[in-house]
Amino acid sequence: TQGIRPLIAGNWKMHGTVREAARLAEAVREGVEGVDLLVCPPFPHLHTVSVVLLGGRVAVGGQDCHAAGKGAHTGDVSAAMLRDVGATHVILGHSERRADHAENDAAVLAKTKAALAAGLIPIVCVGETEAERLGGLAESVVRGQLEGSVPYGFVTAGGIVAYEPVWAIGTGRTPTEDDIAAIHATMRAALVERFGPAARATRLLYGGSVKPSNAKPILALPEVDGALVGGASLVAEDFLAIARAA
Ligand code: PEP
Repeated sequence: TQGIRPLIAGNWKMHGTVREAARLAEAVREGVEGVDLLVCPPFPHLHTVSVVLLGGRVAVGGQDCHAAGKGAHTGDVSAAMLRDVGATHVILGHSERRADHAENDAAVLAKTKAALAAGLIPIVCVGETEAERLGGLAESVVRGQLEGSVPYGFVTAGGIVAYEPVWAIGTGRTPTEDDIAAIHATMRAALVERFGPAARATRLLYGGSVKPSNAKPILALPEVDGALVGGASLVAEDFLAIARAA
């Protein structure tokens, strides 16, 4: 989108040792001129990656956070803890969290509010399953998820939305360019309808099997302001090549 600086975000998921994470961070540290970069390592690697990237051009984010500020929540991590180790962003409502941890829109909404309250920029993920796409429900599913998981205050705080069709994640398959453009137009319209013209500056990322060979045409689509990258973000040259395509 005109006037929006692209963001290429890497979701490292549950991969690698802390040493490998440090090496990967080191390899992408210089970033790419004119593009914002973000990497989201697993929790145990966050602090190390943060230190490696200190003073560099790449930001650090978490892959999830709890809705509460603190308390008896074994295994969870608060938004403030992410901030404390140098994160500026957090991915929320990823389809793997929605599936593996039964996170519904209400849960994602609560986490997003917590992230905003802690001063983190949330990246809220939405996207239809293959059955929903085949049933002609993609746009309504995405609209519903946006409505249900994006709180007031999101747009003014710089909140980011990632469209990630579930069936395109880690599969090597992507929607057609027309289909991506259509969903992104729907998301833009829904956000502007709800939050007003300020939502024209909200970054809308596409995610799902983005790699160096398909990044350029996808990133050139209207209302696509960057990408959320899984698999290809684990290879420094691929991640940087995607960023150079933005
Ligand atoms: C993701 O899960 O955020 C993702 C986009 O994965 P991949 O790029 O591997 O499809």
